[in-house]
Amino acid sequence: MVADRFQTTATTTVTIESTWQNREVVKTDASVETLPLVRRDIACSPPPPCYASTQTEVSAEERLSARGILISKDCVNALLDAIDDARNTAHLFERLETFHRTDELRLALFRRTPIEEAADLPISSLKCGRNARTAILFGYRAHESWCSHVGKVIITQRSRNYSIPLGSCPTQVAFGQQQQVIIATASGEMLVTFEGETLWQSDTIHAEAVTSFRWVSPQLLLSAGLDGRLVLSSLNSTSLEAVRSTAIAVSDLPRSLRRNNATSRRTGIVGITGSGRRDVFLAGETGALWSLDADSLSVSAIGADPEGIEQVYYVGDSFVTVSAAHKLRSTTRDGLSHADLSPGVTVEADLAISGDTILMIDSTKSTAGPIIGFSIEKGEEILRYEDGKFLAIAVNDDNEVIAVDEQMQLNVLQFV
Ligand SMILES: [Zn+2]
Repeated sequence: MVADRFQTTATTTVTIESTWQNREVVKTDASVETLPLVRRDIACSPPPPCYASTQTEVSAEERLSARGILISKDCVNALLDAIDDARNTAHLFERLETFHRTDELRLALFRRTPIEEAADLPISSLKCGRNARTAILFGYRAHESWCSHVGKVIITQRSRNYSIPLGSCPTQVAFGQQQQVIIATASGEMLVTFEGETLWQSDTIHAEAVTSFRWVSPQLLLSAGLDGRLVLSSLNSTSLEAVRSTAIAVSDLPRSLRRNNATSRRTGIVGITGSGRRDVFLAGETGALWSLDADSLSVSAIGADPEGIEQVYYVGDSFVTVSAAHKLRSTTRDGLSHADLSPGVTVEADLAISGDTILMIDSTKSTAGPIIGFSIEKGEEILRYEDGKFLAIAVNDDNEVIAVDEQMQLNVLQFV
């Protein structure tokens, strides 16, 4: 029997106590946080405002009127009396008018001394320098080919004077700070002299006539010549030392003047001019004008006067030149326009400059002539000194005019 196998057994209940129900649960905050919101005000270009106003009536302008204002009779009478008074006394002041005029310039003789031991040669130029020194250059201004003359320079200083004999015609003189006198000649020699004695001489700095000198600093002398060379020399107490040099070639000419392709051929320099150290200019025998950087000696073409240039001066803000036909001319700073300044007057000797006044010797009738003063500002002749016939003039540091006359006298003239 199967049923017998089932037996009833007692049921046992086991209670298992919970181990977690009363335990304290640690809560973990696991939220996600993003970056906080940042507000920024960024300006953008505002749209152009759009005005759409209309106007139908022109706004009336209020006009002031004198109508209704009364001026007393006394006031009118006082004004009329004042006008009458002014008219009656005007003649008293007319005589004083001349003192107010500044356009009339005159020269008066201050001192006249004969030049002893004058040479057989003509006077070519006059140069004034420091310590009341004046150099009188005896020689020819122009040479057909080479110079075969025996030239001379006379230096006068107050009552002293001494002469320096030269192997050729002198062309330029510069005065050094330690009483040296530097002389250049038509054959290209440069000399350093002291009280009439030649201390040093060189014929290798320039190969042809030296045409101009210009101090760049108390020790540095710039020289230019017909050989096209431009040399910067340093003056020691007894000699000159060339420190830098360059040569102006046909290729440096303004385009209008370049006629052939021989670009390395040199072209002569006739003058150095300028104001201060910044503005330095050169003029060439063909009429070209260049501006020069005195430090690097590099040149750049400005323009050219088709009439040619023999002398060049920078006055005010333009160039004053003497043309190949001995006419006084001007060229603007940009080199574009040219004009005859004093038509009908022939100028042979060097010009002298005093402020904006150009002093020149009128050589129209003969080499020697009266002194003419020409104002650049006014564009007219403002002075004529006819007390003698002059050969050479210069203006010294004291603004006195030094002039040599036909009788070989040295005249010191003052502006009055
Ligand atoms: Zn000569």
